[in-house]
Parts: sequence; C-alpha cells; structure tokens
Amino acid sequence: MSAVALAEEDEVRVRFSALRQKQFVLMDKFSELKARLLELTHLSSSTALLHWDLETYMPKRGAAARARSLSSLAAVIHDKFTSPEFEKLITELKSNLDKGLLGEAEACVVREIWRDFSREKKLPREFIEELSLTTAEAHHIWAEARRKSDFSVFRPKLEKIIELKRKEAELVGYKNSPYNALIDVYEKDATAEEVSILFEELKNFLVPFLKKIESSKKNIDTEILKGDYDIGKQRELSREIAEKIGFDFEKGRFDESTHPFTSGFNPEDVRITTRFDKRDVFPAISSTIHEAGHALYEQGLKVKHFGTPLGESRSLGIHESQSGLWENLVGKSLPFWKYWYPRLGEFFPEHFSKISLGDFYKAINVVRPSLIRTEADEVTYGLHVLLRFEIEKDLIEGSIEVGDLPEIWNQKTEELLGIKVPDDARGVLQDVHWSGGSFGYFPTYTIGNLYAAQFYSAAKSQILDLEEEIAGGQFGHLLEWLRKNIHIHGKLYSQDELVTRATGEKLSSKYFIDYITKKYGEIYGLKT
Ligand code: MG
Repeated sequence: MSAVALAEEDEVRVRFSALRQKQFVLMDKFSELKARLLELTHLSSSTALLHWDLETYMPKRGAAARARSLSSLAAVIHDKFTSPEFEKLITELKSNLDKGLLGEAEACVVREIWRDFSREKKLPREFIEELSLTTAEAHHIWAEARRKSDFSVFRPKLEKIIELKRKEAELVGYKNSPYNALIDVYEKDATAEEVSILFEELKNFLVPFLKKIESSKKNIDTEILKGDYDIGKQRELSREIAEKIGFDFEKGRFDESTHPFTSGFNPEDVRITTRFDKRDVFPAISSTIHEAGHALYEQGLKVKHFGTPLGESRSLGIHESQSGLWENLVGKSLPFWKYWYPRLGEFFPEHFSKISLGDFYKAINVVRPSLIRTEADEVTYGLHVLLRFEIEKDLIEGSIEVGDLPEIWNQKTEELLGIKVPDDARGVLQDVHWSGGSFGYFPTYTIGNLYAAQFYSAAKSQILDLEEEIAGGQFGHLLEWLRKNIHIHGKLYSQDELVTRATGEKLSSKYFIDYITKKYGEIYGLKT
C-alpha cells in the first residue's frame, strides 16, 4: 500500500473517531435532556395529582392552601424549565437537530421541547404570575356571576383576561391573527384560517340539516328515559362498560366529580371521573365512555417514553377524537346497544323491560337544539363550538367589545340554533374556559369530532366485521387499531402525519358529514 493511501486511511480513521466522539457527546447531552425532562414530568404529574384530589376528595377548607401548593410547584417547574443550564442544553441539541444529526425519535423530542421552551422563555415570570393570579380570581367571580346570572359581574375580569391574552400573543409572536398564537397551545400548527374553513363547511352542512330534522314528522319520545335509577347500580354498570371497552383498572381509578374529567399521571395511573343523575341513567354511561376514551389513550402511551414528548398525547384535538369516537361513534350506535341493552335491562328491569331497543336508541340520539353545550346532541354540538370560536377569535382580534358579549351571544344562538337565550347563566356565562384564560381551546372539541369520524371510518374499512364485533361485545380489535395507529406514537408525528398515516389523508370534514347524514337520515327518515 502506498504512503498516500495509508495517510488517507489514517485520516478516515481520525475523522471517524472524531465523529464517534461527537456522537458520544451528543448521546450524553440527549441523556441529560431526558433526565431533566423526567424530573419535570414527575413534578407536573404531582401537580396533576393535586388537581385530581382538589376535584374529587379535598375538603372545602383545603382550597386556600392547595392553591398555594399548586402555585409553588408551578414556579419550581417554570424555573427549572427556563434555567440557564436547561437553555444551554436544549440550544446545543437544537443546533444538532438543525444540522440533521439526530435520529427520528431524538429529533421529535428536541423539536417539541425546543418549541415549548421558546414559548415559555418569551413570557416573563411577572406576566405568568399576573395571568395565573388573574385567572385564579376570575374563576370565583365567574362562578358568582353565573350563580347570579349577571354578566356585568364577570365583565371587568374578562376584560382584564383578554387584555392579558392579547399581550401573550404579542409576546410569543404570530402570523396573521393573534388568535393563532393562542390556539397553538392546544392544537399545535392549527390556525384560525384553517379552522375557519373547516367550520364553514360544517356550518353549511349542519344548519340546513338541522332544519330538515326539525321539519321531519318523526316524533322521538325522550320521556321514556326518565326514571328513578339507583346510583350504586349506575356506578356498577358504568364500571363494567369502562372495563369491557378496555379501561385497565389495575392502571386506573374511577371516581365521581362535579365535572367529569380524565387525569393521566403516567400510563400506569390514569383516573377518570363521572357524575350520576338519579333521574336518567344515560348521562353517566355516556360521560363514563367519553372519559374512558381519553383514558384508553393515556393508558396506551408507551411507558418507556414517559417523561419525553414520545410518551405524551399528540394534541387536544387528537385526545378529543379518542373520547368522541368511543362516546359517540361507538357508545351511541345501534350495534353497541344491541350488546348492552339486555344488560341495562338486567340492572333496571322495572324500567327497561317495557321499552324496545329501537325506541331507546332513538331517544338517546334525539336531536334537539338546546342552550347548554355540554348537553348538546351530535348534530347541534358543532354549532355551539362554532359560536364560541367566532366570538373568541373576534375578542382576541379586537373586533368586538366584551361589553357587547351577551347581545352577540344571544343573537348568534338564535341564528345558529333557532332558540332564544333566557338569561346569561344559560348563555354567555355557561362555560368555565374563558375565566381560566383558555382561548383557542373550544375548536379542539369539533376538530376532535372530525378526527373521530375519520379514524372510525378507516378502522371500519380495515377491521372486517367491526360492527358485528361491537354488537357481540368485542372491542379488542378496535382498541388495538387505535393503539397501533394513534396511542403508541405519542408526539412522534404531527397531527397531519398521524391522520395521514392512519387514514390515508389529511383531516377532512367529509367523514363527519357522511356519518351524521347517514345516521340521522335513518333515525329521522330523511330523504338524502
Ligand atoms: Mg373530553
């Protein structure tokens, strides 16, 4: 071998070992990032547990000290996340990401954390404190205003919150609308422009479709659902349904709270709550299935990725797609009740022995414009969300004034749902979101319903006899499909990538529109 060739070989060896050296350093840095993220995640899981307890078992007088515990923890998390050491570490890894030196999984972790970090860093601590203090106070004031059904009680606080949220948008920066800076927290990469297009398509379908339903001659009797249902039995049945669809009680709990919710501290400790109504058994069942749908997602995240974005749910929209798919597409379907209706009859024979499955199915799916979003049916629900989206976007963009809200709310309700709002409590004051500063949250409910219909349609085309399975009380294949296509990926893919990989195309309103048209066309005997 010539001297030149030898020298080249040496050079290659040297370069190779320098590269190895760099990779080791990079791996070390990445391990350090993971360790720091794990610590942060344990702290936020503790926060979530304190919140869970606050909503379920905490005595009333515990509230003041609990608020202080929570804010102390929040400050610790913020400080750790924005510390100079953390900044140095994530900045170095980000430059390696930009050079294309990271593998797919590492790239996902660094990209997601960099994004959160950059946002958090743009918000001064004083701003975060002011926002958290304002919204903590606003919660009580909103509750009082709702109790008195008087918007003017809440108005000054809401004005302050909107001022702060607009400031937040300015601090973090945005394209086109300041609303985009806010929706980004809940549904990364979603924009007001895209959401407007989807919602417009929905509105153009839902408004005339609702008119068709209302002018149909079908009279659905919902009084048949009313009764006197033992709470203990309701609890037992709700648990049974949750377990049957796949909720793992070894890795979860089932409790009661005023507002049903799901809390996932880690994939092996996921808790759901529901509420019971003595006069009607269906709301508890329905909300249990909804929360179990959220919980199945949380239980399906990979334990080994806990602490990093690979072990976190993709977005609120995707989360709502999981709860919505189980609650509506499965839990309000005829196949589902073919299996469960006889069981319901065993629990409440004095009530359901006289009612046919067909009448029960129609009653739980009745379409009736109503004032309260959380009680709305599948057809009108999207209109409730649309109304909030239009209003909150205008508020943040400054094209409407807080003082005009009740009037705008009432006018839009009449326009979209055809009903008059009798008071502020059942109108503009009904939802908690704005008092907590959650602007940009509402659209994720509808986005979730659109994803749900699209996912379910894909699952149905890929699982032979899915509906026969459901009618036989078999939910395993569906859950497996959701695990494989959605749950296990955490944040590895963007929403667009995730939905395209699972269904072959990007989010489209078509599947939801087809689903609603077919289901309610049959129930109401509409010609389509
Ligand atoms: Mg939900």
